[in-house]
Amino acid sequence: MTAVRTVDRIELDNLALGEVHRLRVRLIDNGLGDDYCVPALVAQGRYPGPVLGVTAAVHGNELNGIPIIQRLMADIAVDELCGSVVAVPVVNIPGYLENRRELAPGFDLNRLMPGKPDGTAGQVYAHRFVRRVIAPMHYLIDLHTASFGRVNSLYVRADMRSPATAEMARLQGPQIIVHNEGADGTLRSAAADLGIQAITVEVGDPQRFQRDLIRSSLRGIYNVLGHLRMLPMSSDPPRGKAVLCQRSYWIYTDHGGVLEVFPALTERVQAGQRIARVTNIFGDVVREYTASCDGVVVGKSTNPVAQAGARILHLGIEATGEVLPPRQGDPFL
Ligand SMILES: [Zn+2]
Repeated sequence: MTAVRTVDRIELDNLALGEVHRLRVRLIDNGLGDDYCVPALVAQGRYPGPVLGVTAAVHGNELNGIPIIQRLMADIAVDELCGSVVAVPVVNIPGYLENRRELAPGFDLNRLMPGKPDGTAGQVYAHRFVRRVIAPMHYLIDLHTASFGRVNSLYVRADMRSPATAEMARLQGPQIIVHNEGADGTLRSAAADLGIQAITVEVGDPQRFQRDLIRSSLRGIYNVLGHLRMLPMSSDPPRGKAVLCQRSYWIYTDHGGVLEVFPALTERVQAGQRIARVTNIFGDVVREYTASCDGVVVGKSTNPVAQAGARILHLGIEATGEVLPPRQGDPFL
């Protein structure tokens, strides 16, 4: 087994070429004064090329990305690799250890990026992660899943008006792509602010491993490696036939009770179609919900226990064409 080294930051110039390195990157000191580290694997190709990052478990209970990264880094042909792959199987260590989405209760790490050098504990964690781990990357694939009590299609959130990220999104072969420029505080937007081409891939459900989705996402990463000419590919990597959405939004309950959501994932619904109902605990229907416009089901709630304000369904609004118009002045791959 390769030794694990503890480092202050990922410095690619200090890592030997032609090897996969196992690192622990110091982020903060805990209340005992001990190092609190994130694990990272770095494949250092023998030939020059870009740096592709792959991150998982920014939300601590979103785990499908862990075996994706383990397999990627176990099998990668490092002798043929051009450039480097930096992979972090768990970004949110406290959340992972506590089987929790957040960094700490009420603190979503994916709303704290890029953090602050002199802020709260969460902001410092985010800041140092971005500075010490993310900064050397040129491209980033951030792997997530649905949250507890919800299920997702295999979908990608990406800025589809940027040719570079649009191409990365298509290469994942997802069922759905949602155009989204990146909410403030997300790792994707913090990476984009550093000039890194970044997408978010939603891989199934939380707190479990789903073999088919893991395999499919791994293929998506290899497609990007091939497209970037980081690994040899015998032919051009395939682009999936994803449903492209120009935007998406969640529909919420306004009445508490027992929630049933009717459409299946990736199903197309029409304006006015009944999508959910809430009954009281005695079985009387107290609310029925209909789609306010035509769309496709990106994700949905599976948890019947719904307070007022609970999520019902994530509706994607399809784009009229196959592509969105590119933003002027964007670097093209
Ligand atoms: Zn997530």
